[in-house]
Amino acid sequence: MTVNVIWVDHGREPQCAPNPNFPNGVDVDLRRDKEQPGCSADLPYPAKRCGHHLVQCDVCGYSVAITTAGRPDDPRRITLPCKSN
Ligand SMILES: [Zn+2]
Repeated sequence: MTVNVIWVDHGREPQCAPNPNFPNGVDVDLRRDKEQPGCSADLPYPAKRCGHHLVQCDVCGYSVAITTAGRPDDPRRITLPCKSN
């Protein structure tokens, strides 16, 4: 399965301190439960600055926007609930 990731630049630098609980990035899982099939993709990490990743699954068309802040607590990997399964 193919997951496309496009980063959209908001042109702003981060204004707040990163969340110290996630010094190595956040693994974002949008599935309702772990048993559900999903499509995963690595995200460009860390992001340059404030913006969002536009993530879309080629197989099922599921798409989502994930915001970034250019900080250590940015999303690093995403798992989408895949509708094709
Ligand atoms: Zn999918």
